[in-house]
Amino acid sequence: MIEVNAATPIWIWLDSAATCNIACKLCYTTPMRSPSFMPLELFTGIVDAVRAAPVEVIKFHLNWRGEPVSNPRLAQMLSILSRHPWPVEWHTNATMLTRRKAAAVVESHPGQRIMLSLDGGNRSSFEANRGAGTWSRALRGAEALLDARNGRPNPSIGIHQLDLGVDPRQWETRFHDIVSRVDQHVIEKPVDLDGAVVGHQPVAIPDGPCFWMGNILAIDVNGDAWTCLLRNGTRLGSVIAEGVQPLLDRARTLRQRVAHGTRAAVPGCATCRKKEGHAWV
Ligand code: SF4
Repeated sequence: MIEVNAATPIWIWLDSAATCNIACKLCYTTPMRSPSFMPLELFTGIVDAVRAAPVEVIKFHLNWRGEPVSNPRLAQMLSILSRHPWPVEWHTNATMLTRRKAAAVVESHPGQRIMLSLDGGNRSSFEANRGAGTWSRALRGAEALLDARNGRPNPSIGIHQLDLGVDPRQWETRFHDIVSRVDQHVIEKPVDLDGAVVGHQPVAIPDGPCFWMGNILAIDVNGDAWTCLLRNGTRLGSVIAEGVQPLLDRARTLRQRVAHGTRAAVPGCATCRKKEGHAWV
């Protein structure tokens, strides 16, 4: 057994919802969707299991495969997390953020960070990925969220933008206005189903483990934990039935198996092109 000591950092991605109201072409989680939400009782059980584990939560993400706002219990989940010292972050496509929902999530956890997934920077690029009619709804939701903060510094609100090759001079004025109101603006290349960066030349399958393996638990709507966010991740077990430490042990054993051999040592990882990575703390 691998010992997990009090300083062991862990990143948690929890699937508050496995369903999404839109189907983006560039989403690597689409094949893993189901029409399910995480029930509040299961969520509280998982929070209790994390609290009982000898780990340091570096970040508690409230999203993975679906759209968090589609879960009617999201604000309650955030409120529960506000009682713990863990940094909380979640990403949203913003299209379901009415003024009422925006106010509820903003008030539920002052320390959270909410990242708005606003790709491309203009309607044509955004809707080529996310579907017709989504741009206006996303901008309206983003503005509702920023308005709900009402000039306060908290919660932190940012933009996570997929780089769709649009020159910033072609970004729409309304998008520029939203950019000027957020605290953080991250622009990244989209990731493919096999972990490769979309639009780049195919790279050889790396030998070593990715960052996720052994550093995170990706927890689905049923409370099962997986090694990573990709569809080829390895199931580790039930958080409720076993607790956090045995599952982390299992993930770190898999990491060592890859580190001492190649990705072929773990069947799900054998064809994965996700880049190698270590924990950064
Ligand atoms: S290497 Fe394995 S654990 Fe890492 S992203 Fe790929 S499938 Fe997931």
